[in-house]
Amino acid sequence: MECDVLVVGAGPAGAVAALYCSKNGLDTVLVEKNREVGLHAGRRLDSSPDTNFELSKIVKELKLRTEHYVRTSKWFHLPSARFFVLNSEAGEYYFKRGYDENSFERSTVASALDHGCKLLLNTEVKQVRHDDGKDCKVLLQLRRGGETEKAQIIKPKVIIAADGCHSSLHKHLNLKKRVYRVGRIFGVTGEGFSDDGSSEVYFDANAIPGGYFYILTAKSGLSTAAIVMPGEIDLKKRFYAFVSKNMHDRIRHVENEFSGGAVIFKLNRLRRGNVLFVGDAAGLIDPLLGYGMAPAIISSYLAARCCVDAVRGDDLNISSLKRYEKEAEVRFKRVLAYLLRGIFEALDDEDLELVFDMMEEMQRRGVDFDKLSNFDMKSMFKAFSAFCEKLPKSAQLLRIVLKLRMSYGRGM
Ligand SMILES: Cc1cc2nc3c(=O)[nH]c(=O)nc-3n(C[C@H](O)[C@H](O)[C@H](O)COP(=O)(O)OP(=O)(O)OC[C@H]3O[C@@H](n4cnc5c(N)ncnc54)[C@H](O)[C@@H]3O)c2cc1C
Repeated sequence: MECDVLVVGAGPAGAVAALYCSKNGLDTVLVEKNREVGLHAGRRLDSSPDTNFELSKIVKELKLRTEHYVRTSKWFHLPSARFFVLNSEAGEYYFKRGYDENSFERSTVASALDHGCKLLLNTEVKQVRHDDGKDCKVLLQLRRGGETEKAQIIKPKVIIAADGCHSSLHKHLNLKKRVYRVGRIFGVTGEGFSDDGSSEVYFDANAIPGGYFYILTAKSGLSTAAIVMPGEIDLKKRFYAFVSKNMHDRIRHVENEFSGGAVIFKLNRLRRGNVLFVGDAAGLIDPLLGYGMAPAIISSYLAARCCVDAVRGDDLNISSLKRYEKEAEVRFKRVLAYLLRGIFEALDDEDLELVFDMMEEMQRRGVDFDKLSNFDMKSMFKAFSAFCEKLPKSAQLLRIVLKLRMSYGRGM
């Protein structure tokens, strides 16, 4: 079998890539190792930021299904009962994940099929032979009920690798990757955990060291509450202990539990010949807050766009594929996020209180947090210095600075 593009993995990234390619006339084959799309993700809501309105543009162009667009988030520090509210013009999208018919991945794959994409379920990549894009053969293995059924050779012009953070293509192509950290998450999905639709994030350095607890509620009333922490720990007990202490009256109508992990790594290349890596397979999860949906959607959109340009002529245009690598590398530089994550993990509750004081001061001085994503840092630093002048003891500031420096060394 021959095709223009083979997309490996029908998660959010693969689904978006398959939709873009098929919508733009490419002969597209999407392979998924599970027997159904969406089985790999627990039923839940994911939120991801619409930084610089990049997601909005893609959501509108491809008519992607979303559950909510939220412009208000509330941040709480439980031990001190402090909180602040952020209102921003560019908000967060909520996406429904999992195996329900109307989940993000299932509805996106359904649109791709409407545009002529072929979907092979129960199918994994067994072997890849490629010669820097000139010749490419992929051996696909079909399974039924855990048994290997038959093998098939497919010759795609381009491969989009969207098979998640444990991508089989890393192994097949012998890619080097540097793993930075592993995060765990445990949560529940149900009805009406909060009522006004704004997202809520809770910090408590004793109960959730280096992590946080969040609640999201979609317009339909569907709600997710979850706890996120670094390291390979079992979070279920911690989640229920946290809920019974702080939220027992809110997390009540639970329908299902979910759990998972995120491996944060850097690939030394996002392209190898005619293979483009996108989403979690490209290691694009945000190391600070764990957002993976926005990078998955944006990177697969960029990759698919370059792929459409690359296969338009008679010969495969490798320079269009190289463009993806450049665009993605510029777009997903995450040095600041690694740095902030290192700092965040080092904070105790006293430090967190100071951070909340600082946020209040900045808001009082009119810092527009909405603009911070555009690196409008000048007014923030002004307000930060004003806050420092107010500190009761300069020793306290010294302590923060020392911690920041220590975690800078550790976090990178
Ligand atoms: C519990 C949990 C909660 C999360 N919450 C959020 C959140 O609130 N906001 C947010 O932005 N991000 C969140 N994330 C991260 C987000 O889910 C991921 O970043 C996102 O799913 C990445 O999409 P992807 O398509 O790149 O990879 P995946 O979602 O991992 O999809 C990969 C797909 O490839 C398939 N596959 C795997 N191997 C093969 C193979 N060899 N052959 C064929 N198919 C294969 C899998 O079955 C799957 O369908 C969360 C992650 C977890 C685990």
